Amino acid sequence: MYRPHPFSWLPADGARHATTDERPAGGWPDGTEITALCRQQVRAKNSVEAWLWETCPGCNAEAHRLAGIPMPAAQGRGEK
Ligand SMILES: [Zn+2]
Repeated sequence: MYRPHPFSWLPADGARHATTDERPAGGWPDGTEITALCRQQVRAKNSVEAWLWETCPGCNAEAHRLAGIPMPAAQGRGEK
């Protein structure tokens, strides 16, 4: 099976986080506790609306590092 990156994205606790936890077939059940790349313990949220949440900055930076892709310079503002 082709796995492009060792992590997957999921909406949880108000943001889109990434995790290296193994994703169950069919996706994360609602309320699953997951350790995100930003080292937060988050609970998966399974809804259409949840996929429109903003990407967690900590997970985004760590995902870029794991994938070996530098962060775009324009996004280094550090604002919330
Ligand atoms: Zn995160």
